[in-house]
Amino acid sequence: MVSPKHRSGSKRKVFVKTPGGKTTTHYRKRKPSSAKCGSCGAVLKGVPRELPSKMKNLPKTAKRPQRPFGGVLCTKCMRSKFKTVARAK
Ligand SMILES: [Zn+2]
Repeated sequence: MVSPKHRSGSKRKVFVKTPGGKTTTHYRKRKPSSAKCGSCGAVLKGVPRELPSKMKNLPKTAKRPQRPFGGVLCTKCMRSKFKTVARAK
């Protein structure tokens, strides 16, 4: 029987092959859900789906696209937002 701390849906099984040729089961945290657009909810491209410990060590330029509202809005919503702002002026 698995240890109670591993009997959780938040953990995933990873089968690791040891140097002795046996396969053991390791339990790792699941990756967080992918980043969504703040306006329409579409999955954002160019935003990695990694654990916070790994995101911390990534360069800022690798975490979101280099454009206005990059990592917050998708390209469609960004374009429509700019159009509405331009019309209002
Ligand atoms: Zn959107």
